[in-house]
Amino acid sequence: MSRAKDYYRLQQLDSDIDAKTARLAAVTAALGQRDTVDALKSAFEQTQAALSEARSRQRDLEWELEQTKQKLAQVEKKMYGGSVTNPRQLDDLRQESEHLRRRRGELQDLILDAMMVVEELEGQTGTQHEVWTGAELAWAEEQEALHAEEIALREELAALRTERREQAARLDAAGLDKYERLRAKKNGLAVVPLLGTTCVGCRLSLPSADVQKVRADAVVNFCPHCGRILVYGGPI
Ligand SMILES: [Zn+2]
Repeated sequence: MSRAKDYYRLQQLDSDIDAKTARLAAVTAALGQRDTVDALKSAFEQTQAALSEARSRQRDLEWELEQTKQKLAQVEKKMYGGSVTNPRQLDDLRQESEHLRRRRGELQDLILDAMMVVEELEGQTGTQHEVWTGAELAWAEEQEALHAEEIALREELAALRTERREQAARLDAAGLDKYERLRAKKNGLAVVPLLGTTCVGCRLSLPSADVQKVRADAVVNFCPHCGRILVYGGPI
C-alpha cells in the first residue's frame, strides 16, 4: 500500500470512528428518555381527574334534584290535601312550590349540561389512554432497539480502534503528527480522494502537473488549495 493510501485508510477509520461515536452519544442520550411518553401519561391522568370531578358533580346535581322533587311532592300534598286552610299559609306553600319547580327546572338543565361534559371527557380519556398506551409500547420497543444498537456500536468502536492503532503504526511519527494536525484543522477530514482533477475536500480543480504527481503516488501530495492529503481516486 502506498503511503497516501495508508493515510487514506487511516482517514476512513477515523471518519467511521467519529460517526459511530456521535451516534453512540445520541443513542446514550435517548436511552431512558421518556419525556414525550410521560407528557401523554400526564395529559391522560389530568383528563381522568377532570372526568371523575364531572361525574361527582353530576351525582350531586342528581341527588339535589331528587331532594327537590321529594320536597315539592310534600309541599303540594300539603297544598292540595285540605289540611291547610289558612290563606296566608296557602300562599306561603304556593310560593315555596313555585320556587321548588323553578329549582327543579334549573337542576334538570344543569344535569343535561353535566352529562354532556362527562360524555365529552369520557371520549377524551378513551382517546388519550389509547395514545398513551400506544406510545408506551412504541417507547419500549424503541428502547430495546437503542439498547441493542448501543451494544453493537461499542463492539464496532472497539474493533475500529484496534484496527486504527494497527493502521497508525504503519505511519511514521512525523507523518502521523501532520495528519492529526491537519484533521483537527480540516474538520476531521485530512485525506481526500482526487477525482479526475477535482479535490473532493474543497471541490477545486488541480493543475495537470499536480494531478500527475498524485497519480504517480511516489510521495505524499497535498492539495494546493485546501492543503489536504490527496489520494488518487480515478477519473470521473
Ligand atoms: Zn482541496
